[in-house]
Amino acid sequence: MNEVNPWSSSQIEDYERMRKEFGIPEFNFDLDNNLFARRHLIIGHRDFSSVNEAMRRKSKFYAMTGLMPSGEMHIGNKTVIDLIIYFQKKGADVHIAVADLESYATRGISLEKGRQLAIENFLLNYIALGLEPCDFYFQSESSRVQKFSYILSKEVNMSEMKAIYGFEDSKRMLEISSPLIQASDILSPQIYDGPAPTVVPVGADQDPHIRLTRDISSRMNLFRLNMDRGIEISIGGTEDPEKPMKIAENIMIRAGATKVSRNRKYRIIRSEDSGNLDLFFMRNELARAEREINRYSTIAPSSVILRLETGIRGGKMSKSVPESTISLNERPEDSRKKIMRGLTGGKESVEEQKRLGGNPYACPIFELYMYHLSKDDTDLKRVEEECLTGKRMCGECKSEAAERMGLLLNELKEKRELARDRINEYIKD
Ligand code: SF4
Repeated sequence: MNEVNPWSSSQIEDYERMRKEFGIPEFNFDLDNNLFARRHLIIGHRDFSSVNEAMRRKSKFYAMTGLMPSGEMHIGNKTVIDLIIYFQKKGADVHIAVADLESYATRGISLEKGRQLAIENFLLNYIALGLEPCDFYFQSESSRVQKFSYILSKEVNMSEMKAIYGFEDSKRMLEISSPLIQASDILSPQIYDGPAPTVVPVGADQDPHIRLTRDISSRMNLFRLNMDRGIEISIGGTEDPEKPMKIAENIMIRAGATKVSRNRKYRIIRSEDSGNLDLFFMRNELARAEREINRYSTIAPSSVILRLETGIRGGKMSKSVPESTISLNERPEDSRKKIMRGLTGGKESVEEQKRLGGNPYACPIFELYMYHLSKDDTDLKRVEEECLTGKRMCGECKSEAAERMGLLLNELKEKRELARDRINEYIKD
């Protein structure tokens, strides 16, 4: 298995194996037939059912993401924002963190420069893509995120960070603390605006952040829901458990339990009739009610995990390899040159391709169609079949992809100009 962490430049080869190794369930939600779901570009999730249920019940939920202002926004970044916009349309309260502190610390980009990059290269594109006003903030200016990051750092030790991220002793403290700031970004909306399910769309390489944040959330909670043997709520801490036990008991009954027992010695409330309980209500109410006795209670965040896009020249699409990716701000003629030089799943010769067909499933150009250039499934199917049956040659296929990419980039450029007047709706001074 390849190393799976946010800083590795390797592409993940085997998602099935990755899901098994890290216990990631398959994604079986249709998200209203959303393009990424129906094309299986979302390969897994962490506890997405709680967010799905919040959407179904039109109950409060958050959608969260972050950006590193160290360069241009590329098409690989667009997928996450497309999903954030989908969740916003479904009622999510959206929060977007600009990791300007991390960018300063790891890439030497000043906070002023980071601010300019975040607005010009990211925010304008987000608005152009359809993002409505939300909480768009800079880590360097958010005292609440910084403060909470300090508080939650007491929950994590060095051996855990090494196990999750593979950190070596030579790592600087700043790089070690950066996942904690991200955990704080993810949990802060709940800490300051009240507990609610939270969805974080991530590339498969970002899953370690979600695992860490979910663990931290569970450690900071007093109430822990256990569904291994019936339904149990255990009460953490060392204080007299009477008050939290009463709260938990009451919530269990309101969730539909008829037979509730308690074990004060082991600090447990238990119900036998697990099948009839409204677990969504119970989890939400427990986190909310816990605030009376613990100001840091949260619902463990959920994620949808995206298949990583392959760079046009192979490997993981990354802004550190500019010839392999397409920036949303670049000129169509430049993107055409990159696409025409891209790798394909084609055969050595035209004659062979006509006879045997190409392999769209090992072709970065076909990925461009799948993620960005072909919204209509019939159209995508046509490209796929023409490739497989040798009717489509790679040169013409790339040229068509370049044409479509040019239209997309031109449309975004026009919308970015209009978006400029709306920046103040997103950034509060
Ligand atoms: S024809 Fe198109 S989809 Fe098929 S291998 Fe060539 S570039 Fe890829």
